[in-house]
Amino acid sequence: MTSIPALVENHKNYYHIGDTKKYDFRKQQLEVLRNAIKEYEQEVLDALKTDLHKSEWEAYTTEIGFLLEEIKFTIKHLKEWMKPESVKTPITHLGSKSHVHSEPFGVTLIIAPWNYPFQLQLAPLVGAIASGNCAVLKPSELTPTVSKVLAKLIRENFAEKYISLVEGGVQESTELLKQPFDHIFFTGSVAVGKIVMEAAAKQLIPVTLELGGKSPAIVEKDANLKLAAKRIIWGKFTNAGQTCIAPDYLYIHSEVKDELLKNMREVLNEFYGVDPISDEKYAHIVSDSHFERLKNFLNDGDVVIGGQHRADERVIAPTIIDHISWEDSIMQDEIFGPLLPVLEFDDLEKVVTEVRKRPKPLALYFFSESEEKQDYITENLSFGGGCMNDTLMHIVSPYLPFGGVGTSGTGSYHGKASFEAFSNKKSIVKQTTKFDFSFRYPSAKNGLKIIKKIMG
Ligand code: NAD
Repeated sequence: MTSIPALVENHKNYYHIGDTKKYDFRKQQLEVLRNAIKEYEQEVLDALKTDLHKSEWEAYTTEIGFLLEEIKFTIKHLKEWMKPESVKTPITHLGSKSHVHSEPFGVTLIIAPWNYPFQLQLAPLVGAIASGNCAVLKPSELTPTVSKVLAKLIRENFAEKYISLVEGGVQESTELLKQPFDHIFFTGSVAVGKIVMEAAAKQLIPVTLELGGKSPAIVEKDANLKLAAKRIIWGKFTNAGQTCIAPDYLYIHSEVKDELLKNMREVLNEFYGVDPISDEKYAHIVSDSHFERLKNFLNDGDVVIGGQHRADERVIAPTIIDHISWEDSIMQDEIFGPLLPVLEFDDLEKVVTEVRKRPKPLALYFFSESEEKQDYITENLSFGGGCMNDTLMHIVSPYLPFGGVGTSGTGSYHGKASFEAFSNKKSIVKQTTKFDFSFRYPSAKNGLKIIKKIMG
């Protein structure tokens, strides 16, 4: 087996041949990826069932279908994105032309987490291919079946010098992070994000970090409570809450709390029935340690809905926990599981004060019929992205860059943002040789006088 340093060196050598930069090549490789995903569909669905008990419906919509849409959109726009962007020329540059040229970074490393293990490995790859890079992929060791399928898919469809995949965990990641990559794209936890950024800093490698955090769902008293209940339940309990942008906690106006919770109970019955832990459509927890961590949170506050769990299958029912305060253990870190703690408020300004005290969320969801209040939230809270009167939907639009801010991430991707995430913007001046202004040179007579007329 090729060692990691040799693998990266092979990529570097191949990259410099220049094949990957050509439009036809990029387009063709995106098509190869699309066909491979289609060919492997059943294996991927089975692997997601084995590792996460994902239903076919969830697996198709959030992983396979999502990727196919991303590829279709990218192929459609690739030519236009690749065009050098002409920009204006200031008077100081008279006679010249300027443009911005997007060039690939070179060889990129893409590290993925386990929660959407197929999609989160390949969606960044779409951007890497579109931008003309070579790539090394590193899937999560916590979803080993998906990792194996990914390894096979990549091996059978791409030349190793172009796209390769290294399976494994911390040891392999650590070794990869020592290599001279041209760019690193990391999706995962805040804690490991810091490790990745520190390793990258040692070689000044540019990074895109897609991290996590506590994303609030705030419900004002003028919200459409029936729809709010449905959309929050859907966003929270898809993949059993193991979604980076799932609503982490519910922040609800005290006057409408009881009604919202009543609506939520009805929606849960409708979605997952009276025995959700036996429901085939409901995902399970990825590992025993995550199951134990989540189970301990059931001791916080009062469980008003759900709470049932089964350790042997690592499943916890959709659970809502009332009477929670910021001091409870469940409010200290991202939950990343099917537990929804409830905080109350009477005054929206206090919500802003409390959320601002904490790290900037990856996502934020606000439910209100008032545009004024919606604008107030957008203008006064910093967060990666989100929705007014919905959850998760911002991630699905290829026209919206997706990413975090501060501890929830650096940089963004999806659609054109993916192309940009894997490109260096090279600014070029094409100067004329037909004439030459002498006033810019130190020997020019009256040079400063002319410069002062032009500049300032
Ligand atoms: P993680 O940080 O534990 O692992 C992510 C990847 O990093 C894995 O491939 C893992 O093998 C590797 N890794 C683990 N420890 C490492 C180390 N010490 N050095 C180098 N590499 C290491 O994250 P996870 O548990 O797989 O995923 C859950 C987290 O990811 C949550 O915080 C979630 O919010 C976040 N997430 C973010 C997004 C996003 O798009 N922003 C998407 C999904 C998940």
